[in-house]
Amino acid sequence: MTFDVITIFPDFFRSILEYGLLKRALGGGKANIRLHDLRDFTDDRHRTVDDRPFGGGPGMVFKPEPVFKAVAALRAESPGQRFPVVLLSPQGSLFTQALAEDWVHQERLALICGRYEGVDERIAEHVATHEISIGDFVLSGGELPAALIMESVIRLLPGVLGNEESAWQDSLTAPRSGSSELRESSVGAALVAAHGQPQGLPLRRCLLDFPHYTRPAEFQGWKVPEVLLSGNHEEIRRWRRQRALEKTWRRRPDLLAGFPLSDEDRRWLEAHLGEKCEPVVIPSSGE
Ligand code: SAH
Repeated sequence: MTFDVITIFPDFFRSILEYGLLKRALGGGKANIRLHDLRDFTDDRHRTVDDRPFGGGPGMVFKPEPVFKAVAALRAESPGQRFPVVLLSPQGSLFTQALAEDWVHQERLALICGRYEGVDERIAEHVATHEISIGDFVLSGGELPAALIMESVIRLLPGVLGNEESAWQDSLTAPRSGSSELRESSVGAALVAAHGQPQGLPLRRCLLDFPHYTRPAEFQGWKVPEVLLSGNHEEIRRWRRQRALEKTWRRRPDLLAGFPLSDEDRRWLEAHLGEKCEPVVIPSSGE
């Protein structure tokens, strides 16, 4: 998979590409990150990428021409191929694991990093295919968001993580199979009915990860849960599933909305959280 990053600070990325997972993925040819200096797409002597905002006010805004030129150059490399052209922006829709799981199937993805007051709106409207925010906070540039998105997508590429399984048990990862015995959760439905679906968030079907422990079995008086030392795989599986359900219920009840609970999950939630968990169908939100 090839990532094309359009930025005025290509050097910003160099160090993060030299460590851990990204380094391995790039070295092993699983992913390719190309850094494009936006200033290379200017025509003037000063390589100007920004200008003052029409209507006045502080700060500078990215001019449309260099960004349009940069994207046109990328598109010209693969004629007829459609790939996401992502503008990083705090006004975009929120980046989620679901989107990472979706984008991992792309051969190519372009990322436009803004700076200053942001970019000319015509970039958002007419050249970007997606406008994406990494969270409800404002940063000074799109470089960190672009790095974050590349890392979350690249670690999902086949053969990148050492242990294939570990990606599937991570928090926020959608269940692998849509087994017919799985039912929609009325716990989630009740929550949506009570609080409404959070605005702008797609309905996610996922759980938070269960807690992990490693040696020593006792540290400063705090013991690792007995069941994990038992060697009983079925009990360990059940314990992990219940902790994941419990954690999700307590911290991110919004995620349980629409999560396909097994009969065993529902029995446990009913017994421990005092909710009736009859299966209901939650309308899909076009995810
Ligand atoms: N005035 C703009 C913010 C500009 S911040 C506004 O209020 O919308 C400068 C640049 O940082 C943006 O163009 C964008 O590329 C990047 N950026 C800042 N916060 C971001 C976020 N939460 N997600 C993605 N990109 C962000």
